[in-house]
Amino acid sequence: MIDDNFLEMLPKSIKITKNASMSNYNSFKVGGSCPLLIECYDQIDLLFVLKLFVKNKIKNIVIGEGTNLLVSDNGIDCVVVKFCVPKKDRIKIVENCITVPAQLLLDDFVIQVIENNLGDLTFLSGIPGTVGGAIAGNAGAFGQQIGDLLIDTEVIDRNGNIQKIIQKNLNFTYRSSYFKNNSDIILNASFKLNNFDKNKMIKKRDEILNLRFNKHPNWKKEPCAGSIFRNIEPSSAAEKRQAAGWFLEQAGVKDFKEGKAFVYNKHANIIIANTGSTASDVYKLSERMKKAVLKKFNIELIREIQLLGSF
Ligand SMILES: Cc1cc2nc3c(=O)[nH]c(=O)nc-3n(C[C@H](O)[C@H](O)[C@H](O)COP(=O)(O)OP(=O)(O)OC[C@H]3O[C@@H](n4cnc5c(N)ncnc54)[C@H](O)[C@@H]3O)c2cc1C
Repeated sequence: MIDDNFLEMLPKSIKITKNASMSNYNSFKVGGSCPLLIECYDQIDLLFVLKLFVKNKIKNIVIGEGTNLLVSDNGIDCVVVKFCVPKKDRIKIVENCITVPAQLLLDDFVIQVIENNLGDLTFLSGIPGTVGGAIAGNAGAFGQQIGDLLIDTEVIDRNGNIQKIIQKNLNFTYRSSYFKNNSDIILNASFKLNNFDKNKMIKKRDEILNLRFNKHPNWKKEPCAGSIFRNIEPSSAAEKRQAAGWFLEQAGVKDFKEGKAFVYNKHANIIIANTGSTASDVYKLSERMKKAVLKKFNIELIREIQLLGSF
């Protein structure tokens, strides 16, 4: 139970907000509240808090930067832990093996990898969110995914046990991993990367950022969560994954609106939740988009964004 005694046990270094509006903790900037939001910036605090949850039987979920979530207007009925550090945290490099804390922002990690002449993680340039969130969802772009380069992750389970899980046991598939069906929390991740020329990677990163700038909204100003739907899996090994955005555009969704939420004009797989939008607007709009593709192509799109709470 969350009472004042429980709150007093929490370390002073973490930030707590009672009845926190989840709209402040996700990139759509919509959603109801949660009874308690705890912001942990380092692993010592996270471990302490998780152990307290186990001891006091407190239901909780851990999020990163909230850039892949749609939180219900009815809110979430459990404690939310935000595990994300808004400053550059140090990565450890031993020969070509890099260990990175999961709470670090993914793009800051990419920058540090480039600075150390290691690579090649440039394909992840500009993807918002934390390293932990990226591994949980096997984030990627340009046909490459973070899970491909991972060696292992250090995780903590819901009983407070810490263990390493090697890459082959993390069940990475397109935008999915072991963490999708499991509540373990990623603490650290190790990657094996070859030496790369820093200048070449800076050039490649600039090209990628430029491409993303022209194709994606600036999520800090235009609230969104990247692609709503996954791309379509090939039906045979000879085929390539097909962009959901193409099917959505052909199905005519670019003019679709719901309340204040609308489909982004440069990319039919992105919804912008304009000021005044609700999570329900975003959800209803995504359902209409899905139906339009089903009707025109008989293809059932699968959501990439994660729904939290009831819809
Ligand atoms: C403008 C824009 C562009 C985007 N472009 C891309 C893209 O090109 N490619 C792509 O793949 N994604 C893209 N995304 C989606 C999003 O950025 C990624 O999915 C990102 O990796 C999510 O990280 P996060 O920290 O925000 O996770 P959150 O949204 O906070 O959480 C997502 C899931 O990860 C889990 N999680 C978070 N941290 C941990 C942890 N430490 N341990 C275990 N589980 C954890 C959460 O419980 C939740 O289930 C984009 C989003 C935006 C807004």
